[in-house]
Amino acid sequence: MIVLKSASELEKMHRAGLIVWDVLNSLRQRVAPGVTTLDLERFAARRTAEYGARAAFKGYRGFPCTLCTSVNNEVVHGIPSARRTLREGDVLSIDYGVELDGYYADAAITIPVGRVAPEVERLIAATREALDRAIAQMRPGNRLSDVGAAVQQTVEPLGFSVVREFVGHGIGTQMHEEPQLPNYGPPGKGPRLEPGLVLAIEPMVAAGRPEVRVLDDGWTAVTADGSLAAHFEHTVAVTQNGPWILTRPKELSGPSW
Ligand code: MG
Repeated sequence: MIVLKSASELEKMHRAGLIVWDVLNSLRQRVAPGVTTLDLERFAARRTAEYGARAAFKGYRGFPCTLCTSVNNEVVHGIPSARRTLREGDVLSIDYGVELDGYYADAAITIPVGRVAPEVERLIAATREALDRAIAQMRPGNRLSDVGAAVQQTVEPLGFSVVREFVGHGIGTQMHEEPQLPNYGPPGKGPRLEPGLVLAIEPMVAAGRPEVRVLDDGWTAVTADGSLAAHFEHTVAVTQNGPWILTRPKELSGPSW
């Protein structure tokens, strides 16, 4: 069942979302060669506590950390570690969510570490653009699959591929609610979008083939062919006036990340 949110519930989700925005932007500034993913984890855990929020991922099905940190061919769900030191030229995605006052917000960014190859810049830009085009579909009257189709239609013409095994999702009083949102498929299918629908939209894009496998840690999903991957995400509400990105300040415009 899809649960639509009231105006006051959206405001609560936005309060959670502003924490996610602030922490991810602070993390972005800390990413540099020589930093470990555990350094980032510790910073995020401290900031989450200072905000009085709860880290949404920690303990979720046994996940051990506040952040998912996924480097290079890791697509999603990488576990922060003191042994994972970022190096010049790496590409890092950070996924982070909080629960505040009973409501969740979830977002992700992909960050180049120092100077990266032009191909890496292109992958990051395409994935961010795919998220923005998907967000633009969040209008009353559109259909659910219009959102995911926008991702596929953005990245595939550029020679990249859409990871199939992981999908976006409804979000609200639970981190994962209905509906599921694949990042591929034809437009014009599924339920009509209505004001109050909130989705965590999260394109995961591979530079090579789309297949993934999960490492022995039980969490880290990597591309099967070893190619690089990128991941961007926002929590977005459908309103009468179009999309409202709950995981960033209202006054901002332009690219969502
Ligand atoms: Mg998510």
